Amino acid sequence: MPIHHLTVGDLSCTVLNDTQTPFVYDPATTDLVGVTWDEIRAALDALGQGNTGIDAMNCLLIQHGGTNLLVDSGLGDSSRSHLLASLAEAGLTANDIDIIFLSHFHGDHTGGLVNEAGEVVFPNAHYYAAEIEWDTWLPRSPWPQMSAERTDQFKEGFAPLKDRFTFIEPGYELLPGVTVVDARGHSPGHYLVHVHSGDEQLLYLSDTLLRLPQFAHPNWHIVFDVDKEKSVKMRKAILQRAADEHILLQVYHLPFPGLGYVEQIGEDAYSWHPLA
Ligand SMILES: [Zn+2]
Repeated sequence: MPIHHLTVGDLSCTVLNDTQTPFVYDPATTDLVGVTWDEIRAALDALGQGNTGIDAMNCLLIQHGGTNLLVDSGLGDSSRSHLLASLAEAGLTANDIDIIFLSHFHGDHTGGLVNEAGEVVFPNAHYYAAEIEWDTWLPRSPWPQMSAERTDQFKEGFAPLKDRFTFIEPGYELLPGVTVVDARGHSPGHYLVHVHSGDEQLLYLSDTLLRLPQFAHPNWHIVFDVDKEKSVKMRKAILQRAADEHILLQVYHLPFPGLGYVEQIGEDAYSWHPLA
């Protein structure tokens, strides 16, 4: 299963692919909203891209001093998720994960925590996330991006995990050099992870941006952005910082490994340069 290893200063980072699914940009089903189909088509043309895109899910493993930190857990859909196989490729099992940070609670980031038998997948993990994610999503059914049936299985395993959660604020240091960053908007407690060691940086972007045309058009949002205005503001601020500081980004939903740099090409407009 695809994994991509890199180092950020003293920290070992591995992108662990969970899913990689082609989709078709289509006027009837596009998840880009607040924009016309002609504008989307023009943006795809500018990227030299046809109607087919890739929706991936790329989790991040960070290792330091014998501690294994997993950032997000994938979809947990046995028909197409392979996070555990990717983890095995990195030489670890689910039992080896000490810390799990959840960028937010949408099902494509939390689903991998509980299997389809309702069992907890990472038995030794302690969890970190924003408390508002728990308060916002736990009362909901179905769980965002899960079927009603899967929601019941999931909540059966997930709700009792509350005792193993530490709820945190932006600025919290998960490991030395690994800090939580505010990116609220996509979800009320949507946080990122900034890895900084020596003079190297990596920013795990989670769902600040989901689709390639959003680099040139950060005003365009995704149907899943809970607070649309805030998500646009955050997207612009984070892309600007990444361009200014030349920060390596990892974007959860872009094609594996989702790593690359942004360059500013105009006011509130950026281009994406994936790491080859
Ligand atoms: Zn997502």
